Amino acid sequence: MEGTEGGGKKVRLREHLKNVPEYVPGKSVDEVMRLYGLKRVVKLASNENPYGASPKVREVLANFDGFHVYPSPGEMEELAERISDYLGVEKERIVLGAGIDGILENVFKMLVDPLDEVVIPVPSFPYYHTLSAIMNARDVRVRRRENFEIDLEGVRRSISDRTKMVVVCSPNNPTGNVEDPEVVREIAESFDVLVFVDEAYAEFSNTDMLDLSDYENVVIARTFSKAFGLANLRIGYAVMSSELKRAYMKVSTPFPVSSVAIRCAMAALDDIDHMRRCVERIREERERLYSELGRRVKVYPSEANFLFFESNVRASELVEELMKRGVIVRDCSRFVGCSPFAVRVSVGRREENDLFLSALDEVL
Ligand code: PMP
Repeated sequence: MEGTEGGGKKVRLREHLKNVPEYVPGKSVDEVMRLYGLKRVVKLASNENPYGASPKVREVLANFDGFHVYPSPGEMEELAERISDYLGVEKERIVLGAGIDGILENVFKMLVDPLDEVVIPVPSFPYYHTLSAIMNARDVRVRRRENFEIDLEGVRRSISDRTKMVVVCSPNNPTGNVEDPEVVREIAESFDVLVFVDEAYAEFSNTDMLDLSDYENVVIARTFSKAFGLANLRIGYAVMSSELKRAYMKVSTPFPVSSVAIRCAMAALDDIDHMRRCVERIREERERLYSELGRRVKVYPSEANFLFFESNVRASELVEELMKRGVIVRDCSRFVGCSPFAVRVSVGRREENDLFLSALDEVL
């Protein structure tokens, strides 16, 4: 509203918020269409499922009529039970959250004091750095090895009395590689720190860390945003010890996920075949795109639904030029630990990937 600013006193924001980077979302399809006067734009920038959610999810939405009441604990229990069947872990150790983002926020809230340290093998998912900055903690960055696997010795050397958490993203965003579970086991067994394992992309890969979920200091987080195609509903989950779960429930907001999201997640689990078909097609396309890209740029093997590559054109320029040609990909040059040439492209449908490849040929 106009005229409401200017009166009253200035508030005193938490001092260190000046160190928190503002989140700048990528441009949307509509924006790019308008900006460049394009009729068709494909977005391969956020690692979404290009085939969409199961039709069963749409049915749930069409029939939902509980907008006026708060979600019930019973619904959350029911979904936890379904996830328990899906993963083969006890439902008592499952928590739900507003995506892995929401889960991460709660885990930081329950663990990280100002000046504590969070060890992050880089490059990785930027939100880990953002949350460390919000808590006024120090993000201790450990450069990954040449193939982007975690440098175990580097991690060992970086852990101090102030370390509360080591973050392991597998498959790793943005590089796509998986981590060796034995490396993660070694960290969990050697240090009294929490090992947060972010498996947002687990369904696209052949390796997962569920065998480590029994460890008291390991949390494994998963999401419905990627393989299940529910990114907009903001729902994810994590497996943790019952002691950690008690602390988690204390810091979580009272109603972290909506009934709509819960029921849609259950519908998505009811149609596991839909998810598997999507994953199958994405993996096939990933391999095709990998070999096509390999003829043009330096591309890295991936077990996720995206590919990481470097060309000899600066990422900022490459991304802008692709955008002018109707293809949105992610410029990773400002990710901590990435080169100025680093780009990530999500695996889309075949024709989307072809559009990307021909736009890339024009630019290069
Ligand atoms: N972790 C990683 C590694 C991701 O790439 C993403 C998605 N950008 C997230 C977590 C957040 O996922 P969610 O939608 O479940 O919050």
